Amino acid sequence: MAAMTPSSSSPGPGAGYRGRFAPTPSGPLHFGSLVAALGSHLDARAAGGEWRVRIEDIDPPRCPAGAGDTILRQLEAFGLEWDGEVLWQHSRHGAYQAALERLAEAGLAYPCSCSRKQWRDYAVYPGWCRHGVCRPDAPVAWRLRSDLGEHPARFDDRLLGRLTFDPAALGDVVLKRKDALFAYQLAVAVDDTDQGMTDVVRGVDLLDNTPWQRQLQQALGYPHPRYLHLPLVVAPNGQKLSKQNLAPTLATRPDGIRRQLSAALEALDQAPPAALAESPVAEQLAWAVSHWSTARLAKAPTRPAPEEV
Ligand code: GLU
Repeated sequence: MAAMTPSSSSPGPGAGYRGRFAPTPSGPLHFGSLVAALGSHLDARAAGGEWRVRIEDIDPPRCPAGAGDTILRQLEAFGLEWDGEVLWQHSRHGAYQAALERLAEAGLAYPCSCSRKQWRDYAVYPGWCRHGVCRPDAPVAWRLRSDLGEHPARFDDRLLGRLTFDPAALGDVVLKRKDALFAYQLAVAVDDTDQGMTDVVRGVDLLDNTPWQRQLQQALGYPHPRYLHLPLVVAPNGQKLSKQNLAPTLATRPDGIRRQLSAALEALDQAPPAALAESPVAEQLAWAVSHWSTARLAKAPTRPAPEEV
């Protein structure tokens, strides 16, 4: 990603808002993912919009059985009610394949037989297969041509302002892997459009993916949603919260749930009045929806996890 400069006129959410929370079910939600879910939920509800849930179980080896259902139960326990049916990416292969075929027919996606080992001396894949696959007998991945879109490319993040990036520095992103699994970037671009998303609100850890998803939207003739990348809650060592660095697990008892919801609001700079911190989740959420303000969100990209959650 390249230079960031403040934007004077980032669009704010308007009528017809539709947003989503799109977890990868690699395990249960932890405090960091709760904050992302809550931020997207509040932004949607405060705009009078819809909030959808999409389970991104596109990479089965990374998704233990039952993890998607566990996440849905956790969202319910925290009062985060979604609209419509949950979309499961494992049911969407036909849509991803159709999008890939459209890109290939338009000359925007190409098969690539190269291995990481072959281009290990380069920062990004140098595009050797762009004009004909190097080893037609070998298994191929499919990549997007990054050299045919807008250059340089820009977009406005509602919090971070105008962002500029150089497609050449991003490289030709993989859309379908050699093992025939579709890549996250393609799945998200297709689903966000098919589901009519107007707004993507997610953690700043996903910011680096946004340029690729926008390249794909452009290549497929899709509209671009608005973006808001939320500050990330990090472990004391500064790393993204994860199972490996002992991210606080989510409570299951009502008192713990109430306290964690209040801490998650605080992590989004929307701390409820002290008297509300012990209130039922529905009351805390009602307060948070009516007081949601992106202007209060700190621009600091990370913040430490609260000590007791
Ligand atoms: N599935 C991605 C994750 O859990 C998030 C996708 C998104 O919000 O665009 O990290």
